[in-house]
Amino acid sequence: MSSLLEVKDLYKTYGNGAKVEVLKGINLAVGQGDTIALVGPSGAGKSTLLHVMGTIDRPTSGKVLFDGQDIFNLSDQPLAAFRNKSIGFVFQFHHLLPEFTALENVMMPLLIGGEKRSKVEGRARELLTSVGLAHRVTHRPGELSGGEQQRVAIARALVRSPRLLLADEPTGNLDMKTSEEVHDLLYSIQKETGISLVIVTHNERLAAGMARTIRLVDGNIVEAG
Ligand code: ADP
Repeated sequence: MSSLLEVKDLYKTYGNGAKVEVLKGINLAVGQGDTIALVGPSGAGKSTLLHVMGTIDRPTSGKVLFDGQDIFNLSDQPLAAFRNKSIGFVFQFHHLLPEFTALENVMMPLLIGGEKRSKVEGRARELLTSVGLAHRVTHRPGELSGGEQQRVAIARALVRSPRLLLADEPTGNLDMKTSEEVHDLLYSIQKETGISLVIVTHNERLAAGMARTIRLVDGNIVEAG
């Protein structure tokens, strides 16, 4: 499997005075179509690692290569453009814009990217249909259930056809039955699109559905499946 993303000797330290060393020399590779569960105790550094892999946060030292390119060599603006195009994010809390409909929320990354509404509406509808929400396109987030809101967030994350989908506790806020439905949706999207998927989760069932599990403890990888 060729690597889509490689993390090389990554360190992340927070703070100016009292420093907190959160990541202590992480090495890992994410292949094309790879599915990885990132697990470990609370405070281990999982979210921090996901944020650096997703280029939301810069490392203190070390590299992240995407298609072999050292992405943190980019300055902030080209880095944001790269991120918008190549990486999709799903968080525990959906972060949908409350005043916009499901359809508008899904279109938003394209509209922000300068596309015309008439051109992107079809793509957004298609994605909402594929996540089972064809009948909810004009609903606002407040008129949707927790599971439906997360489906909209997944559709939004996919709208620019990213190569890598990063999810941070995507079902951490959902009941068991709804979680299972969202898990099944993520598995089927991955199968259909061949996207690479890295998910931070405490949910053992979700982790079991991934091809690999990487366990982080105190800023170090202690187990890499
Ligand atoms: P996990 O996702 O495994 O629970 P996190 O990556 O969220 O762990 O956090 C790891 C550690 O880094 C925690 O001790 C947390 O308090 C600290 N941390 C995370 N973000 C920041 C920040 N912006 N500033 C200072 N410390 C932070």
